Amino acid sequence: MILRKRIEIEGVVQGVGFRPFVYNSALYWGVSGYVLNNSRGVVIEVEGPFEKLAGFLWKVRSDTPPLASISRFEVVDIDPCGDDGFVIRESEGDQQAVAQISPDTFVCDACLEELFDPDDRRYRYPFINCTDCGPRYTIVTGIPYDRPKTTMADFTMCPSCQAEYDDPSSRRFHAQPNACPDCGPQVELCDADGAVIDSDDPVARAVELLRQGKIVAVKGLGGYHLAVDAENEMAVARLRERKKRDEKPFAMMVSSVEQVLEFSTATPDEIKLLGSVERPIVLIKKKEGTSIAASVAPRNNYFGVMLPYTPLHHLLLKEYFTALVMTSGNISDEPIAFEDDDATTRLAPIADCFLHHNRRIYMRADDSIGRIIDGKAVMLRRSRGYVPRALFLSMQLPEVLATGAELKSTICLTQGDRAYLSQYIGDLKNDEVYGSFCRTIDHLEGLLEIKPKVIAHDLHPDFYSTGYAEGRDDLERVPVQHHHAHLASCLAENGYEKDAIGIIFDGLGYGIDGNIWGGEFLVGGYRSFKRMGHFSHIAMPGGDAAVKEPFRMALSYLFRVYGEELPDLELVRSVPKKDLQLLRQMVDKGLNSPLTSSCGRLFDGVSALLGLRRSVTYEGQSALELEQAADPMADGCYPFNLVKDEGGFALDYSSLISAIVDDIQAGESVGEISGRFHNTIANVALSAARRIWSLTGLETVALSGGVFQNRLLTEKVVHSLRDDGFTVLTHAQVPPNDGGLALGQAVIAAHQAGI
Ligand code: ZN
Ligand code: ZN
Ligand code: FE
Repeated sequence: MILRKRIEIEGVVQGVGFRPFVYNSALYWGVSGYVLNNSRGVVIEVEGPFEKLAGFLWKVRSDTPPLASISRFEVVDIDPCGDDGFVIRESEGDQQAVAQISPDTFVCDACLEELFDPDDRRYRYPFINCTDCGPRYTIVTGIPYDRPKTTMADFTMCPSCQAEYDDPSSRRFHAQPNACPDCGPQVELCDADGAVIDSDDPVARAVELLRQGKIVAVKGLGGYHLAVDAENEMAVARLRERKKRDEKPFAMMVSSVEQVLEFSTATPDEIKLLGSVERPIVLIKKKEGTSIAASVAPRNNYFGVMLPYTPLHHLLLKEYFTALVMTSGNISDEPIAFEDDDATTRLAPIADCFLHHNRRIYMRADDSIGRIIDGKAVMLRRSRGYVPRALFLSMQLPEVLATGAELKSTICLTQGDRAYLSQYIGDLKNDEVYGSFCRTIDHLEGLLEIKPKVIAHDLHPDFYSTGYAEGRDDLERVPVQHHHAHLASCLAENGYEKDAIGIIFDGLGYGIDGNIWGGEFLVGGYRSFKRMGHFSHIAMPGGDAAVKEPFRMALSYLFRVYGEELPDLELVRSVPKKDLQLLRQMVDKGLNSPLTSSCGRLFDGVSALLGLRRSVTYEGQSALELEQAADPMADGCYPFNLVKDEGGFALDYSSLISAIVDDIQAGESVGEISGRFHNTIANVALSAARRIWSLTGLETVALSGGVFQNRLLTEKVVHSLRDDGFTVLTHAQVPPNDGGLALGQAVIAAHQAGI
């Protein structure tokens, strides 16, 4: 008996080789019918005897292409119509562009096998790809996603490549970046002055140079990396010096998981994240005494590790290196270079030579960074490999553009039940980064065909992202308080639509009272919020200078707690008398000393008190070192008070600071003190949550803000809240730091706007 079924599939099923996969499955099982893309995903109709249909359905359901993920799979019986054979039909209706552009993806196993097969026509060809893998977002120039709208438009396929492209049974059917050595992009090795270094095999020559300890700028998927042999201390130290990067750890690309285990104590969760299709950088705990150069990650217990993700990376690493330092191609805080001329100019003072290629990068995308916290993969930077994949929301939203924060800028566009968070853009104070911010907005609005009517931005009047929003007078403008946006971001990621308690432990964000907030206990949802409590406000002597020099914060806490008589501490002794006096005057008179309730600044101050960090060389360094110094087994907790404050409560940390000072004077170890400090902040969170519960009855707590990149603290907070019966919402796909802020802004604006 012949049956016919109609199957509707939703999820990530377009631009991932799904139709050829369905086609081949149909041929295999000998069923007839068709497959096509429509605006919601993929539709299949198949006809055949029951056993064959069952086999086909089982295969389509369980053996999907590596990049596909199915969110809905519905099968209905319809009347047979006796068609012959199986075909891939033209797409149907007003197909949304959004479904079609997938993120850039690591080279698949089938392509890798060909890459290293001497008999294959793409043997050692650095641009091998197929429908399951290769560049996407970074090469797309517009829609529809088709070769002419990618930077592969520069190359015409040879007859062999074209035949694969046209053949539904080929792995390269409609693979837009399809190429081979005869017709596709080529690599070129140049010296620091831009002169071509003649070579039959530029990649092999680059390997030789790397082995000699040279610094090679390598053009990758989303920009240039600076590469150097990670086992060569001299070479790594030279890179550090030339890059003007004092202490911030360098990321490494490691040839295999086995090698990663040689010099780190990667857990199964970390290995899983490392090998995920997005191939992010994963923070993994170091082993001591390995062959990796000390200056890869000085004063740090962790390595940032990733696996090779392009064919070129495999060619560079395979058999030659345990690990290469692969740090973004820039000088200190500038954006990563991605255009050949710009890279040559900007990186010439650093790189000894350049491994260029002539496939243009249209959109810059940095490597993503993730960390396992409480058994969950948490993105600290969500960029290459993830963008422009949609985040699915629990609700339907109008089209909104949110412009994010300033330092870890990302933007967000919403449409229906989807939110699109952009790649990491960087610090908008840099002109070039701001240019890239504007370009990203234009590009994503075009690609996703989203025409926002509402624009959301931070409350901070001086942020460039606020300035941009003010310039878009075609749109309704909704300013959003920074920590309200953090709260909403966490709620939206978790699909939680009711009011919740928000514990926002953050660096700095503009408050509705004009002070700088950052240690906040909120209650609210998408429509509104109320500030129930906060860390006590304290002066930041010198404003920004107090962020770069945490010892200023330490002194500010000491002034508050001890008044005139400062305790006898190494830190106090180390500051010249007149500097002390000056700082005290600034604080007393409120000269260039804005008030803050920041949690991040408290971590900075304690770090300085303990002698870990007087000043920082990169953002977040002192809090990170405080976390790493902590003895996770330390028990005990310092005293603190939640005191009454206008309309709510405030954390008074006088007893906390004086107890820490006592411990320092008693010669207690830094590890023990830091451990107790972490326990204390977790207890603060629990006490605050209980107090808010007693006032509101709310039992769900959302955790957000940059301080929750701290694994030790996050795990302590989550466990103590859970043990007490609270439901705890945390971030995973969306960064807890300002990189996730735009999502919260967008959702709030969608609820507050007059549309
Ligand atoms: Zn492939
Ligand atoms: Zn070709
Ligand atoms: Fe923030």
